[in-house]
Amino acid sequence: MIIFKQASQLTTYLQTQKQTGKRIGFAPTMGALHQGHLQLIEHARSGNDLTVCSIFVNPTQFNNPEDFQKYPKTLEKDIELLIGAGCDILFIPTKEEVYPDNYIAPHYDLGYLENILEGEHRPGHFQGVCQVVDLLLNIVHTDNLYLGQKDFQQCMVLTRLLEIRGSREHLHFVPTKREADGLAMSSRNLRLNESQRELATTIYQVLEYLKANINALSISDLEQAGRTQLEQRGFAVDYVAICNADTLLAAQSTNEPLIGLIAASLDTIRLIDNERLN
Ligand code: AMP
Repeated sequence: MIIFKQASQLTTYLQTQKQTGKRIGFAPTMGALHQGHLQLIEHARSGNDLTVCSIFVNPTQFNNPEDFQKYPKTLEKDIELLIGAGCDILFIPTKEEVYPDNYIAPHYDLGYLENILEGEHRPGHFQGVCQVVDLLLNIVHTDNLYLGQKDFQQCMVLTRLLEIRGSREHLHFVPTKREADGLAMSSRNLRLNESQRELATTIYQVLEYLKANINALSISDLEQAGRTQLEQRGFAVDYVAICNADTLLAAQSTNEPLIGLIAASLDTIRLIDNERLN
């Protein structure tokens, strides 16, 4: 695996590779890698000649300074995992490499996606995500971009970003990798203590509950019941939402394609997850 720290060097290297007809797959991450991330690498490897992973904890997408400060960092282990997974190129830039001098953040028109669910509870988050992915895509000229369905709304936002950029990368949404008890793998899980780790699986259990009862209760009663189950186990709940899986707007009936989405915190550790309900 070749490690690049300088954006210009990586761009030049990839351009040369592309000229020889190589197809490039790219998985951007914030590190503290787990099997969920490695699944993106696996998908990228199977569809491309060269697989690129980036590790960059992007400050502009954090609306909570403590979350940014405490974001887990495990670079040495990440490098080992990526080598083991057969990743070809790792990009670990500094903030200065990603954000040019005198950078002026554009405003990305994300429509209603900006103001619902994650957008509502993390103001500015998706603008920050778009900034960094926009800049990374200018550095990593990729054919295919791999994203995790765990961040379902992010997948929709980045679909919109590619429309705004008018760029031709193909998007691939990779299913959520879970622990044996159902907890969605997440870098933030590293911050959970033993009892919080046990409680954290409640999020998955509530998603399963929503799925099992989707025809038994009204949508709003189900959302309320899910919220109550989480609160009873000590979570501060941002949302338990049943939405149309194509639009992410509030579901009106069970005839629509439905997705359940949850964001809830244990202490200051905020976890998100989602699951298709029909
Ligand atoms: P992050 O490092 O959390 O910013 O995530 C980098 C990429 O990995 C994003 O596209 C995430 O959606 C994806 N990802 C994170 N966790 C998982 C998981 N458990 N399963 C699949 N993909 C994931």
